[in-house]
Amino acid sequence: MKFDVIIVGSGFAGSTLARKFALDNKKVLIYEKRGQIGGNMYDKVLDNSILVHQYGPHIFHTNSKKVMDFVTQFGSWYFYEHKVVGKINNTLVPIPFNFKSLELLYSKEQADIIKEKLLAKYKDTKKVSILDLINDSDETIKQFGLFVYKNVFENYTAKQWNIPIEEIDTSVINRVPVILGYDDRYFQDEYQYMPKHGYTKVFEEMLNHPNITIKLNTNALEDIEIKDNKIYWQNQEFHGKVFYTGAIDELFNYKYGPLPYRSLDLVFENYDMNYYQSSAVVNYPNDEKYTRITEFKYLSNQLVNNKTTILKEYPKKYDYQDENSIPYYAIINEENQNMYQKYYELVKKIPNLYMCGRLAEYKYFNMDAVILRALELYEKVGK
Ligand code: FAD
Ligand code: UDP
Repeated sequence: MKFDVIIVGSGFAGSTLARKFALDNKKVLIYEKRGQIGGNMYDKVLDNSILVHQYGPHIFHTNSKKVMDFVTQFGSWYFYEHKVVGKINNTLVPIPFNFKSLELLYSKEQADIIKEKLLAKYKDTKKVSILDLINDSDETIKQFGLFVYKNVFENYTAKQWNIPIEEIDTSVINRVPVILGYDDRYFQDEYQYMPKHGYTKVFEEMLNHPNITIKLNTNALEDIEIKDNKIYWQNQEFHGKVFYTGAIDELFNYKYGPLPYRSLDLVFENYDMNYYQSSAVVNYPNDEKYTRITEFKYLSNQLVNNKTTILKEYPKKYDYQDENSIPYYAIINEENQNMYQKYYELVKKIPNLYMCGRLAEYKYFNMDAVILRALELYEKVGK
């Protein structure tokens, strides 16, 4: 069969592109090295009837109407605002740290003083970066900032990334603000919804089109070769477009070295009880080896009696030579960006090759950002 477009990977990057091209009457071939579609969003129902996310908890949130309009074409979505608490000094307090957290950990007098100072200093602002607080000129605000920094951010970050907090890109820390009020939602985005029947069903609908062929359990690089800045598919020069959403260093055989990632050990546990914990996610910034525990029933809104499943996330090293090791988080710093850029220079020489997604672009993208990238890339080069 002749294909117009080849897509490597079936996460949101690959599947969004596939859908757009298929609607445009292009014949699309998707390669997926795993045994199922959906990338890291893949979810499945366990024997105990609980829907779990195999590659870590995925909560959908976006400020983009365009993205929301796109995903809601594929099945129903329900309103879901994610709540997280963190165990700080043996007390569970809302994360992002907010005024309620402050009141739970400080005396009433101290909490009142800090709240008043914060509101006076950061007028008309609903959230503030922890990095601004620790550098504040007011001593009370600064000490409060240092308390949150030490108890919420410092050890969690060291555990998650295995480097001191000072070495982590500030954009990573700034994903989690301090809230100047009582808003206890983890995300502040305009649209917060979850797929009613899970992500896998969304992907099945997205890819359910006669113009789309999917090859599972196949590494695309078995069929694709790059030679003299041309793409060869099954040993013939391929003149259509190739969209690659896998790891860019793998595509070029690690020519400039492996791009560093952080990985996770995901440990699922089943219990015969209604609920294991009081919130969807409990963060453990300090003593435990895991960073957080997710209880899936809260995410899926499931009413399953006397059964529940939780997930503990243990951060660990990623090893590109071990095929069971999964590259979860790009480690953003100047050195790694420079290595990425060297790989990207190779891409630029190949006119019909495009990078899209978290691995291909080596970015800390949320799902919505990836979908938007894919929609915009299609608008730019699709026609
Ligand atoms: P992926 O989902 O990684 O898909 C890439 C696909 O390509 C994979 O299926 C892979 O098997 C396949 N592939 C790669 N190379 C090849 C090859 N050579 N041949 C064939 N197939 C190949 N975002 C949110 O918005 N909300 C969240 O709550 C959230 N939680 C997260 C939790 C964790 C633990 C992690 C790690 C990420 C989380 N994210 C979250 C981010 C989200 O996972 C990404 O934005 C999303 O996966 C990006 O989609 P993608 O298509 O770029 O990549
Ligand atoms: N973070 C932290 N303490 C927390 C939550 C987050 O220090 O309780 C920091 C940590 O560095 C983490 C980053 O903020 O890697 C981003 O957190 P987020 O919850 O967005 O991570 P993700 O869900 O992507 O794993």
